[in-house]
Amino acid sequence: MTANKVTPCCGGAAPCREEPSWFAHMLGHCLDYAREAHAGGRPIVGILCEYTPRELILAAGAVPVCLCGGSAETIPAAEQHLPANLCPLIKSTYGFSVLRSNPFLEMASLIVAETTCDGKKKMYERLGERYSMYVLELPQKPLRASGLRYWEEELHRFKAELETRFSVRITDERLREAIGVMNTERRLRRALAELMKRDRPPLTGRQLLALKSSISGIPAELEALETTRATLDAREGPPEYGERVRVLMTGVPMVQGAEWVLELLERRGGLVVCLESCTGVKPILDDVREDAPNPVAALAEKYYHLPCSVMSPNEDRLALLRRLARDYRADCIVDLVWQACLTYDVESYAIKRLAEDELGLPFLHIGTDYAVADSARVEVRVDALFESVRPRGRSGRGTRPDLAHAHRGPGRDRQRKAPT
Ligand code: SF4
Ligand code: SF4
Repeated sequence: MTANKVTPCCGGAAPCREEPSWFAHMLGHCLDYAREAHAGGRPIVGILCEYTPRELILAAGAVPVCLCGGSAETIPAAEQHLPANLCPLIKSTYGFSVLRSNPFLEMASLIVAETTCDGKKKMYERLGERYSMYVLELPQKPLRASGLRYWEEELHRFKAELETRFSVRITDERLREAIGVMNTERRLRRALAELMKRDRPPLTGRQLLALKSSISGIPAELEALETTRATLDAREGPPEYGERVRVLMTGVPMVQGAEWVLELLERRGGLVVCLESCTGVKPILDDVREDAPNPVAALAEKYYHLPCSVMSPNEDRLALLRRLARDYRADCIVDLVWQACLTYDVESYAIKRLAEDELGLPFLHIGTDYAVADSARVEVRVDALFESVRPRGRSGRGTRPDLAHAHRGPGRDRQRKAPT
């Protein structure tokens, strides 16, 4: 995360037809906002995972900022302390702390994290040596009612910690207000994502990925989301978008700076119509009940049911992919797994079975890291995947007869399976 580096809203992935938007300079705007808030006495709170309810941080008067690292450049520094055979997301995030090069991290009064995957948990111990850390204990059996009860208790403990640390009282009223802000952000981002359901979406998956902020709830960001949605809603994408291979992408998060696989997919003739991961739609599909009598319980309910691969079993991810493949009329599923991410890697076989055996969609598992040096190998496999989709033709995509209405209509050929 290099806060002073300015990128176009699409990350340079496509010719830009837009006026410069807030998102074209998102990191710069976030940094200005954080500096001003910090100078005015508002605490900066770093977060590292989508299980953290930003609502509690906002209700404490603090600024929640995502600290996940997407740069390959900070990895060598991380490897001074961490094993090389670790997920690049963990190493990149930690590397910023070694180099002291993430201004948001250096401003943070507190970093909040959860007990998710083993690599992250152990990395937090090192991070906690230099920064104030608070680690939420996340139960990992989503079907257990006792797990949800424990998670709600954990959120109460977190709320109490924020109140003590920042000398503030988080009333139900403040919490409901913060829930309203986050629901607005989720609703606007959902509306943008839903534009990709069209035959000719008005933007690419890469451009959509750039329409989010490292800090939630900034009024200018919400305004920019609304303006962008209205502009794009009135626009039809070029005919060429209608001819591309519609990709449902799943797997690990692709944080800012680590989007190269998505960019490659779109360079080779795909259109990522849906990104299921934590940097895509997964965290924004459900809102928090604003009228719930117990707002902390409402937060616990929403966040506990995020279908991350650290959960066991994680049937909700399969159900979500079924729904997204149908709603976005996917031609194929691509599962991205960062090197050494065991939970997503093991779960990949279940996704392959879902894609090929149940949905009748070609499937590709891409295991890689932040190093673009891997791109030639990935390119060959992506080309083979798309070749297996194209012969079925526009009217024949979507394969299972029971799903045909949801895809491109009947009369498809029998699909060929992509190499994995
Ligand atoms: S993939 Fe899992 S561990 Fe990673 S940010 Fe999402 S919820 Fe957290
Ligand atoms: S991508 Fe996998 S290994 Fe990396 S932080 Fe997320 S869950 Fe952990």
